[in-house]
Amino acid sequence: MAVRRARIWLLPEGDLYRDTFVWAHQWPSSWAAKSYALLSKWGVDDWPLFAASGRGLESYRKYARSVLEQAKFGMWYQRARGHLQVPDYLSFQSSPSQLLKAAKAVGLPWETRIRTKSFCRLRAGMLTLSGVDGRPSVAKLQSCIFCGRAVRTPMTHVVATCPHWGQHRELVLGVLPLASTGVVDQYMLTRLLFVCPPSAPGFIELLQWFSKIDSACQDYWAARGFFS
Ligand SMILES: [Zn+2]
Repeated sequence: MAVRRARIWLLPEGDLYRDTFVWAHQWPSSWAAKSYALLSKWGVDDWPLFAASGRGLESYRKYARSVLEQAKFGMWYQRARGHLQVPDYLSFQSSPSQLLKAAKAVGLPWETRIRTKSFCRLRAGMLTLSGVDGRPSVAKLQSCIFCGRAVRTPMTHVVATCPHWGQHRELVLGVLPLASTGVVDQYMLTRLLFVCPPSAPGFIELLQWFSKIDSACQDYWAARGFFS
């Protein structure tokens, strides 16, 4: 939308379309006025102000995108900060999850939307990610079914530190806009990934990874005659 406005601004003065656009700003219900109000709300400079710095349209596209990502990321980060541990998604949701609706709204392909099931299963703690001697267990200290390490919080381990999923994790973290946050804590990282909005770049890669965890987990237990 910001770029669309910029393109209209770039039409030569006297162009009918441009003139109508400029003139329409005085009518609050016009697209011109509404889109301008949104830009102001999000803190994005309109094209004439940005162009005064001498930079071009491609720079403007990148600038608008980074401002919006930061604005959105602020909310995302606040949600993750609201907890110390990963919330128990199976029990504590203040309202039904908007995840499926949001995934549909941003136009994610169907095969990606199906994978939100794995995302929900994983964060709800429905996957048995650890055991003792290849069997499900209630022991406090168990072994990760993927790397065999002793773990107390298997979900956080698998998402944030398990070496078996290192490549997938790196791929996702390379795309998600988390670099500026200095996330070092494994619990914080897990919480951030679990509230990742479907509109975030990297969400598709995140779902691919989580659906692989889901399948690998099911295969592991099925091969041992459990949960099938
Ligand atoms: Zn592991």
